[in-house]
Amino acid sequence: MLPIHLALVPVANLNFSDVAQVSAAIQKQIIRDFTPLWAIEATIDAFPRIDDVPVGYWPIYVVDTFDKGGQHKTRHHQPFGLVAAGSSWSLAASHEALEMLADPSGDRLVAGASPMDQARVEFLLEVCDPCQGDAQAYTVNGILVSDFCTPEYFDPLGVTGARYSYTGSLTGPHQVLPGGYLSWRDPVTENWFQQRIVDGNPDFKPLGKIQPGALMSLRATIDKESAPDRPLSNLKLTPAIKRANRARANADRAAIEQAKPMKAFLRTLRGKRSRRSK
Ligand SMILES: [Zn+2]
Repeated sequence: MLPIHLALVPVANLNFSDVAQVSAAIQKQIIRDFTPLWAIEATIDAFPRIDDVPVGYWPIYVVDTFDKGGQHKTRHHQPFGLVAAGSSWSLAASHEALEMLADPSGDRLVAGASPMDQARVEFLLEVCDPCQGDAQAYTVNGILVSDFCTPEYFDPLGVTGARYSYTGSLTGPHQVLPGGYLSWRDPVTENWFQQRIVDGNPDFKPLGKIQPGALMSLRATIDKESAPDRPLSNLKLTPAIKRANRARANADRAAIEQAKPMKAFLRTLRGKRSRRSK
């Protein structure tokens, strides 16, 4: 299998050590959680500067603005992602990375039974959107990452009793959780529709006909029209975010304790060399 290489690059003023830790958490998420379910292999690495990104890597830039988040295409039609540098930017970075891996074009449609009263429809393959809320997010190394759908979620047959998202938050195919959404196209009328959850009930919104502009994918076009109420990058202190913050603090404390004897040992090595060189 030819692996995909992603690059996580801070453009906003971020501590590079944080960027490296988020990149390591997403790498662990990809190899441990995502690849076994989607059979897509990928690496993700942090690079301090745009100039450092090797040719052939798909970059995800962490930027200062909430404008134009999501996935885009370069002039030569290669995907890149934009993520805003907020309090929960690791969740948005994980979301973009996984969606980019599952559908690099941002245009893939999968057939299935309509959630509305329609004939067979085509769903846009966005693997994080239906379960994108922070209540479904989980932590890797204490870093908040996104839950994601499994292939069974998009299975045209709608198999019951399968695993529909990594954390098990989704309990059926084409289900949407609060804070999430699912978009599809009706081939009969050529109109697009979107399902969300409003006050606990499914809400169906017609989006009309959608024609992506140049260098725009269906995903970028639809995300622009249906920008989330709360950008994933900058979530408030919800219970889920507080839990994640505690997990991060515990992971950091364990890492610092683990480092202490190793630092002392490494200091003794330095001491030996400087004594010998005298
Ligand atoms: Zn998405």
